[in-house]
Amino acid sequence: MHLQDYQVAESSSSPFLPPGQKLPPRGAVGSSAQAGDRRPPEGGFDLLGKQHEIITPPPWDKAAMARRLERFELQSLAAESLEPFKVKDRAGKLQSPRVCKCLRTPRSKFVEIWKSAKHGRHYYGGLVVCGSVWDCLPCAAKISEHRGEEIKQAVDSWESRGNTVVMLTQTFPHYSNQSCKPLLAKFGEARTIQLKSKPWKKIKSTFGLVGFINRTEVTYGSNGWHIHCHTLLFFSGLVTLSPGQVIPIWQTACLSSGLTAPSSAHGVKISTPQDMADYIAKQGKETSNWTIEAEMTKGHTKRGGKEGKTPFDLLRAYRDTKEEKYKRLFVEYSQAFKGKRQLYWSKGLRDLLALVPEITDEEAANSQDELDEMFSMIDTAKLWPLIRKLNLRGQLLELANQGEEKFTAGLRYFQTLAGYTDSPF
Ligand SMILES: [Zn+2]
Repeated sequence: MHLQDYQVAESSSSPFLPPGQKLPPRGAVGSSAQAGDRRPPEGGFDLLGKQHEIITPPPWDKAAMARRLERFELQSLAAESLEPFKVKDRAGKLQSPRVCKCLRTPRSKFVEIWKSAKHGRHYYGGLVVCGSVWDCLPCAAKISEHRGEEIKQAVDSWESRGNTVVMLTQTFPHYSNQSCKPLLAKFGEARTIQLKSKPWKKIKSTFGLVGFINRTEVTYGSNGWHIHCHTLLFFSGLVTLSPGQVIPIWQTACLSSGLTAPSSAHGVKISTPQDMADYIAKQGKETSNWTIEAEMTKGHTKRGGKEGKTPFDLLRAYRDTKEEKYKRLFVEYSQAFKGKRQLYWSKGLRDLLALVPEITDEEAANSQDELDEMFSMIDTAKLWPLIRKLNLRGQLLELANQGEEKFTAGLRYFQTLAGYTDSPF
């Protein structure tokens, strides 16, 4: 993909099209359908958008662009995997899962393209947004950004007042013949038992534990579903907590909920801020952007390591191998985690840290900065269906990211395609 090299007039094939698909023959250009596209739509907006302005594109980052394009690609695969599993709406009518409509289905006559004031990149408006943090990579990315900022604020403000935050990671032994949903239910039960137990309450009072933020996640490997949670523990003052103080409590809780008891070596890990800093330093350039807030919000979207595949790795594996088993595993994960909260703040912690009330995932996915500006509007009658059909949603935003000239040239090219396709829309 080399969008920066894009030349409309000279290309015989296009980076926007699926492999093998060529530009339409020149004779098709300028058809009546194309002429129709150039008619200004109602409301006074030109197809290319009246709000264009000369902007300086952000510095070119090919890897970041590839990641953004992949979000749309994996969202399409998630939609394909989950489409057969219809859900009843409030009226009792069967509907496709919301991820199938996310950033596809228009809510009005025009699809909007907005420019973020904060990072200069472009995003869609006027479309259905699902807010499915478990299933939808574009939504998960946006929600993670919002949640990550809050976590950073919480940790920084607590530590700057001379207090301690440590990260507790907990897991248990698992096997390849176990299903995700019952395992997740037992894990949740074990966590509840732990939090209600006398020894945990003793830790709370002895060490001055004032609250926590918990996140549960899963990877899939040769021993099946590896469910684990990261919990940020907020202590008053300077505190040192060792795994030995937590492991007996966690072992008892696992056994009580029907899980196999974890070993002392693997069931519990405690990372202090110094450990985290050392870890970051050791990882080198590749993971030097590791942060506590990224660990707490992006675990399920990143690429897994030796521990196994993250849920979105399962979709990557399906894309790369076409093996149905990866699709089935993604569905199994999605159905197990459906409706669960990804991040849980203990009661009272946000008040203690003077944070505003938490917004829902859907609100975070739909959030918009008031300084953001409208960049363009796309006709939903003809051009948008084509962009959807050819899976060009990500590419259109990347063109906008590269400035008005590239975007305008790209749109003209899409219009050419729309004229070529016998006007099915
Ligand atoms: Zn979504």
